[in-house]
Amino acid sequence: MSPRTGAAPRTPRTIAIVGGGLAAGEAAKTLRSEGFDGRLVVVAEEAHAPYERPPLSKEYLRGEAAADKATVLDADLASEQRIELILGRAATDLDLHARRLTLADGSRLPFDGLLLATGATARVPVGPRPEWLHVLRTFEDADRIREAARLASSTVVAGGGWIAAETAASLRQLGLEVTLVVPGAEVLERSLGPVVGAMFRSVHESHGVRVVRGARVAGLAEPGPGLRLADGSIVAGDLVVVGFGAAPRTELAERAGLAVADGIVVDEWLSTAADGVLAAGDVASAWHPRYHERVRSEHWDNARRQARTAARNLLGRAESYERVPYFFSDQFDLGMEVVGRFAASDEVVVRRVDDDAFIAFWLRDDRLTAALHANVWGAKKTLERLVDQAVPVDGALLSDPAVPLVELAAAA
Ligand code: FAD
Repeated sequence: MSPRTGAAPRTPRTIAIVGGGLAAGEAAKTLRSEGFDGRLVVVAEEAHAPYERPPLSKEYLRGEAAADKATVLDADLASEQRIELILGRAATDLDLHARRLTLADGSRLPFDGLLLATGATARVPVGPRPEWLHVLRTFEDADRIREAARLASSTVVAGGGWIAAETAASLRQLGLEVTLVVPGAEVLERSLGPVVGAMFRSVHESHGVRVVRGARVAGLAEPGPGLRLADGSIVAGDLVVVGFGAAPRTELAERAGLAVADGIVVDEWLSTAADGVLAAGDVASAWHPRYHERVRSEHWDNARRQARTAARNLLGRAESYERVPYFFSDQFDLGMEVVGRFAASDEVVVRRVDDDAFIAFWLRDDRLTAALHANVWGAKKTLERLVDQAVPVDGALLSDPAVPLVELAAAA
């Protein structure tokens, strides 16, 4: 593929960004820092200035951080940088031929360049949604859970992913009895596999979380609050939070006729098939030159970095997005970072560094595909290099905490 790409035919005079999350905010700031001097408009359906979501399941949920800590682009900065923020108004229609957006109030916004950063939305169970049933995606969701938790003594959190695990940890830290219901054999099994997933389960259990494993949620308990599992058992709690994944917000792109397949389809330059129309963040299903397939990532780092690349490409660059994925999470006193991408068939080697600190390596053909550290601060850069360079390694050295990580890198 040649960099046909994302670049609008000439330097655009107006760039519109649809979205109100990290990708939208970051792209707008990057456009200005890269020297874009034209009209720049961010159209966001939520009423908040563009914000990032990681605090919502962590310090914001626990009431330890204010909302403004999550803001990516506040009104003052926007005005200083001449970025028009249209908040609380969705873009409802995209006319690619006329190069024009229509907003929820009927107003029109012509553009030369467009970034779709519409993110994803939490999947909710079908059927009526009782007030004790929660999902977690927005500030309002977090506020509702926190308020319900204030009046509750027990909670059920269901889901096999990060949001369920982090929410369970935060609610436990708030003093609630927590039952975490996971579909796999282990906590976070789909993301981390059974070996490392078991280590996360033991962290949760050591903090008093009751973990129900291998449990498929069949429906809501009648009358509730609680969940009915496929084996007919009921798990009950004063409130229930479900983390059943997120669905990409592709509706605007789809209606405009852009290709959509689990996300808006873009090439390695983050461009759709329409000139000057790009996508970034949770909504983008982007061709990844390293993995030779399309990847849709729902991680903070991906949203931030894709947004920057997309911004530069909107200005005529042809920067391919090929970063090794990176993700972080905090649960109880365990902070972790993962780099890379592994397959279930990859070998796992664990290095125990301390009682509460370890590194997990994933290997294929004696090369690292991914690595995770938990509480081994300072390891990230070296791990990133090892994974990025696919360094040949010796499994025995990996597991030995006496062998410095940098010496593994030196073998490259
Ligand atoms: P979003 O944040 O989803 O933003 C998209 C925005 O676009 C939304 O505000 C939406 O309302 C708006 N929008 C959609 N359609 C339209 C439209 N037609 N018109 C106008 N606006 C529209 N990642 C990590 O790496 N580490 C973490 O610890 C971590 N914690 C997380 C905790 C929670 C609770 C959640 C929900 C996510 C977490 N993530 C984490 C993931 C990370 O936050 C996401 O990857 C990131 O938010 C994606 O940003 P985005 O801008 O692409 O999409």
